[in-house]
Amino acid sequence: MPELPEVEITARRLSSALTGAEVESALAPGMVAMKTYEPALETLEGRSVAGVRRVGKMPVVEFSGDLSLLVHLMSAGRLQLFDKRASARDRASRVLVRLADGRELRLREFGTRQRAWAKLLATDKVAEDEMVATLGPEAWPAPPLDVFAELIDQQRHLHPLLRDQRTIAGIGRSWVDEILWEARLSPFKQGSELLETEVESLHRALGVLGGAIDHYEEVIGETVPDKLPMPLQVHRREGEPCPRCGTTIAAVYFKEHQANYCPKEQTGGRVLKDRRLSRLLK
Ligand SMILES: [Zn+2]
Repeated sequence: MPELPEVEITARRLSSALTGAEVESALAPGMVAMKTYEPALETLEGRSVAGVRRVGKMPVVEFSGDLSLLVHLMSAGRLQLFDKRASARDRASRVLVRLADGRELRLREFGTRQRAWAKLLATDKVAEDEMVATLGPEAWPAPPLDVFAELIDQQRHLHPLLRDQRTIAGIGRSWVDEILWEARLSPFKQGSELLETEVESLHRALGVLGGAIDHYEEVIGETVPDKLPMPLQVHRREGEPCPRCGTTIAAVYFKEHQANYCPKEQTGGRVLKDRRLSRLLK
């Protein structure tokens, strides 16, 4: 799933490529993708793209005349720009914005489930949308240390806590592992248990998000590749040596995701076997 760094670089590249382009037509082949009906998608016709930005993990495409398309990619959605129009057989297409110059912006989704969605809103209403209004502060640039300390002072494990968009916006299953590894903290430590120095480490570790954006700026060209070269050190690297200390990276499996960590540096040498066991460790 695209997280803050991936959506940020996508928004930057789309913004440079699309700003000023005129919309010829817009349609939603994914029957359930559009979550708003008024204004209708057709009202984009004749408008031009004013820019593309990001809020949390969501791209926002802004159009002239104060309309914005707020997009939620969910786990398998991508916002992609194509030089040519989609054939009717592109079953991954959920929303298509056809440009007068022949290009096409597509919200595509891979896999069988249709979960990605878009909302067409007045630009000044985007901030009021419930998905935006309920977001915590952006994880990058990091909020001030005292604000961050207050946000995470909760009796919840750091792994789900940092992924909770209402607490802090932009972090998902990949980058949470990287941030916790960078801070040398257990995914199962509770936010409220952290010492002041640990809060500081965690706050500093949010810097990996900016590092990832810088990495993308360096390695990708003017267009975003289908698969971004994510600079991950521990996420999905179980069995490989920790890049810092050489200890074998371990994993805890959940129903739909996994947490990876260095047992030596993050859990006091303990290898967590499963959720049941991990609950006992604090
Ligand atoms: Zn290590």
